[in-house]
Amino acid sequence: MKFTLALASTIYSASAFTPGLHVNVHRPLSSLNAVSRKDSYDVTLLPGDGIGPEITEATKAVLKTLCDKSGFEMNLKEALIGGCAIDATNDPFPQESLDQCLASDSVLLACIGGYKWDGNPRELRPESGLLKMRKEMGLFANLRPAKVLPQLIDASTLKREVVEGVDVMVVRELTGDVYFGTPKGIDEVDGQRVGYNNMIYSESEIERIARVAGDVASKRDGKLCSVDKANVLDVSQLWRDVVIEVIEKDFPDVELSHMYVDNAAMQLIRWPKQFDTIVCGNIFGDILSDEASMLVGSLGMLPSASIGESGPGVFEPCHGSAPDIAGENKANPLAMILSAAMMLRYDLDRADEAQLLEDAVEAVLDQGLRTADIKQDGDGCELVGCVEMGKAVAAQVESLELKSAVTV
Ligand code: NAD
Repeated sequence: MKFTLALASTIYSASAFTPGLHVNVHRPLSSLNAVSRKDSYDVTLLPGDGIGPEITEATKAVLKTLCDKSGFEMNLKEALIGGCAIDATNDPFPQESLDQCLASDSVLLACIGGYKWDGNPRELRPESGLLKMRKEMGLFANLRPAKVLPQLIDASTLKREVVEGVDVMVVRELTGDVYFGTPKGIDEVDGQRVGYNNMIYSESEIERIARVAGDVASKRDGKLCSVDKANVLDVSQLWRDVVIEVIEKDFPDVELSHMYVDNAAMQLIRWPKQFDTIVCGNIFGDILSDEASMLVGSLGMLPSASIGESGPGVFEPCHGSAPDIAGENKANPLAMILSAAMMLRYDLDRADEAQLLEDAVEAVLDQGLRTADIKQDGDGCELVGCVEMGKAVAAQVESLELKSAVTV
């Protein structure tokens, strides 16, 4: 009892000091599109570790073809992050890299990590570079699409009729919630250890993620499902109230629904086609975005985006650095190419080109080309390496028609 009271009084005052709580309520309507459409963009490339440099090369070649075709420039400048940055500078995300990222129109990241740095102290682990980058760039919204492509439908562990046509976008809040709330810790209370974390969201934190979600949903099928646990948690009740206020006021055309997180976890497996855009807090989003990505079934096909209130976003595949296949020309570059498509759509105001890249990826799969991770026994498809897959996508970009995208 003593413990509960002490904790409650600290929670009560937490909003006054908790880092990461944002008090300004006047902000742009949306965080999407770091810059307006223009003729020349500066993009920072972070190849990172493992298969990173290979999939980066393949993606660069595709982007070059796209720029030539569409008549705009993309100045791609590389910077260090992860294990390669530790080796070169003893810092997983050196200031120079951060400055370059912040000065860019957008950032495209491959992947970081590897056995070599596994034993390092926490501050010298590649993952610390990622966390630093997200924090310093204020990336509070994570967008994770899970789209089941007809060509890879059998890669999913679910039945064909359940996953066919699935196209879900999970918008996850990335910088708040129980992962960052204070107080937190493990204390000795009445002779036993008690561990605690604080699930906390301010109104302004919920508002800004609701705006991103509203914007994303309005540019997709216009359906937004907000996931919470409002039947039990006060913080979820506030979440629900604020999401309703923001969507009703700023996105009247978006159809908003609500679902408790336990039900959402079931519904994603039972009938995922009912979802278009899902918005949730950090911990619920962590779990649901991984669950949604498994509807697709193949790690090498999953892109993601992390965006902030203004300034460049970071676009990256969901997979890691795959050290087991690094340097063997076996990596699948498609998740990074699809991440570049997200960058074009969500940061660079180039929806038509984003659509062309996505069409080119599907066309290559239609051609029957497969890297090892998406090749299945007896599928009659041709096994290709990372380089060949990149070249095939570039060739499709060259030959397909650049059309006006229906949705952005
Ligand atoms: P992983 O995603 O790197 O690999 C898991 C499995 O999937 C491996 O068998 C790998 O070969 C395969 N795979 C992944 N991406 C592939 C691709 N594009 N093409 C073909 N096959 C692919 O996960 P892991 O093995 O758990 O982690 C390896 C390293 O990556 C670790 O150091 C980890 O910390 C790091 N990691 C980084 C990120 C990131 O950069 N955001 C994310 C997850 C893990």
